[in-house]
Parts: sequence; structure tokens; C-alpha cells
Amino acid sequence: MTNISSKFQTNIPLSKYSRMRVGGDAKYLLEAKDLNEIISAIKYAQENNIDYIVVGEGANIIFSDYGFDGLVIINQSSTISFLENNLVIVDSGVKNNHFVLKCAEKNLGGLDYLAAIPGTIGGAIYGNAGAFGNFITDLIESVTLFLPDGNIAIKSKSQLKPLYRSTLIKRVAKRDKRLSPIILSAKFKLMSSHSETIIKSIKELDKIRQKRQPKNKYFVSGSTFKNPAGRPSGKNENTEFIHKTAAWLLDDSGAKKIKIDGARVSLDNANWIENNGKAAAQDIYAIVSEMKKAVLAKHQIKLEEEIEFIGKFE
Ligand SMILES: Cc1cc2nc3c(=O)[nH]c(=O)nc-3n(C[C@H](O)[C@H](O)[C@H](O)COP(=O)(O)OP(=O)(O)OC[C@H]3O[C@@H](n4cnc5c(N)ncnc54)[C@H](O)[C@@H]3O)c2cc1C
Repeated sequence: MTNISSKFQTNIPLSKYSRMRVGGDAKYLLEAKDLNEIISAIKYAQENNIDYIVVGEGANIIFSDYGFDGLVIINQSSTISFLENNLVIVDSGVKNNHFVLKCAEKNLGGLDYLAAIPGTIGGAIYGNAGAFGNFITDLIESVTLFLPDGNIAIKSKSQLKPLYRSTLIKRVAKRDKRLSPIILSAKFKLMSSHSETIIKSIKELDKIRQKRQPKNKYFVSGSTFKNPAGRPSGKNENTEFIHKTAAWLLDDSGAKKIKIDGARVSLDNANWIENNGKAAAQDIYAIVSEMKKAVLAKHQIKLEEEIEFIGKFE
């Protein structure tokens, strides 16, 4: 068996692996092609006392300008297995869009909203990604996890304790990333549908999203903060709800004026930060602090980040 460390690259710029296109170098980086490589790499890191992190598409993370003094594992696992009774097992490294389209080919729907959410299945489950009142965990039967003690465990959806933009895995990671499990794969029970219906629905949802999101082509990480109002859904998108969204609160607090060097709060959506390609990770961090201060001062509400900062910030 080849030693997994022979596949590690050294001193690799992390900006390439983050949608915001910021961040210093990873001391070691592995583009893991399957679940065995992920497991071997984690075991190697643990045995050699190397800090490690598993990431997907970097759609929700901001790496520090100081980089990551350890091993960054880019999850590129890619297997999708279709079983009977609308059950599908998917590797955590599969991209959301690819997964939804592959399921559509088999006339399996229910995840139409996920097609436009950047990232991998693992990243989406970690943060319970969602849109239009849906959460990725809604249709999950179980997940297979690699635990920090080296064991593999299958957990049901209820054991993930999903909440709006959060699961138990993310909550544990926030306390101590080393104690949090790695999602290897997930089993979904999808809904019978027709591929044309699914594709039509994906296109319609995408049109609605385009209206809500920044129009220019800068680098972004999606929503910066969670909505203090919680889960958005069709039925509570009334004025009262809108006035509690992070975007509304930020706009009302004047956050659209905040900019530092190459980064600024988007003029189209005050909960998004745009990088014109010249910003540093520290600029994004400073903008986030300013945004929080603005809402605290005007509304006495403490916003909680949806994006995650990895590494050292000042
Ligand atoms: C343009 C744009 C639009 C967006 N719209 C939405 C939206 O509508 N709804 C929404 O919910 N989000 C949205 N997001 C945010 C982002 O797409 C999601 O958070 C996404 O799920 C992140 O997936 P990822 O694979 O890129 O995770 P990453 O950003 O790579 O990682 C995020 C976190 O998950 C952890 N992680 C990743 N994979 C695993 C794994 N296999 N096991 C354990 N931990 C893991 C990482 O360590 C990290 O802590 C948007 C982002 C962008 C850029």
C-alpha cells in the first residue's frame, strides 16, 4: 500500500480552494480522490500529530492569510450508488449540483433547491445547507461518519440534531474541530418525480435566486450571517420576518457603506461580502466585525456568522 503522505503537496495557496479566493498556504494539501484516501490521510495526521481539516469546495470558509499549519484534505470522493425504493448513497465529496442532476436522470427529486447551492454534500450536511424553506437533512436517512477515535459509525438524521444552518457535527467542531467527526457518505430517500419536472423546477428556483444575489462577478461566500429570524419559509416571508433577516438588519444599519481595500459589503445584498480579487482574508474578517458592530449598535442584535474563519485572525 502506498504511503498516503507521498500524495501530499506542500506549501499550496489555499485561495485556490476557497470561493472567496483568499488565504495563505497549506503546509500540506491532499486532493483526496476517494473515502479511503481521506481516512488514511486523517490517520496519518493523527499518528504524526499534524493538525488536519477536511473541506469541500470552500464555499463557506475563509482561510487565514497565515495559511494552515497542517494538512488540508480536499474531499473529491465521487461515488453515487442508486439502490431500490428511491434510496441513494452518495460520497460526501460529490458536488451538490452534480448529485441533483444525476438523481434527476433517475427521476428522483426533492433536492431541486440544492442544485444552486455551491459546495459538496459533506459541506452541505455539516452546516445543514438549504434554501426556500428546505434543509439538506430533510431527506437524509443516515450518514456514515469517521470518528476522531478512528471508528466508523452510522448515524440517523435525528442523531445529527439538525437545526437552521447547523448540525451537532458543526456545533462540536465549533468547540473543538479535533473532536468532530468527518462525514464520509450519506443515504438519502428521495421522491419519485420526472426528470423534466425537476429540471424545470431547478431553473425556476435559480431565476428567483439570481434576483436576490449580487449581480457582479466578484468572489463571494454566500450569506455572511445566519438570519436571527431563523428558518426562512414560504409562509413566514411576511414583513415581520423580512425585518428580522440578517440582510435587512445590515442594510438598515448602514452596512452597505463598509469596504476595506478590495472587499466590500455588496450593494445588492447587505449580507454578502464581495472580493474584487485584491482583498486579504484579514480584510474580510475586519468587514465582518464592522457589520456585526453596525447591527449591534442600531438594533441591539448580535449576528452569528454563517461563514467560518479557519486559522489565525487579528
Ligand atoms: C454563491 C453562494 C451561494 C450560497 N447559497 C447558499 C444557500 O442558498 N444556502 C446555504 O445553506 N448555503 C449557501 N452558501 C454557502 C455554501 O454553499 C454552503 O455552506 C455549502 O454547504 C458549503 O459546502 P462546501 O463543500 O463548500 O464546504 P466548505 O466551505 O469546504 O466547508 C465548510 C465547513 O464544513 C466542513 N466540512 C466540509 N466537508 C466536510 C465533511 N465531509 N465532513 C465534516 N466536515 C466537513 C469544513 O471543515 C468546514 O468547516 C452559498 C455560498 C455561495 C458561494
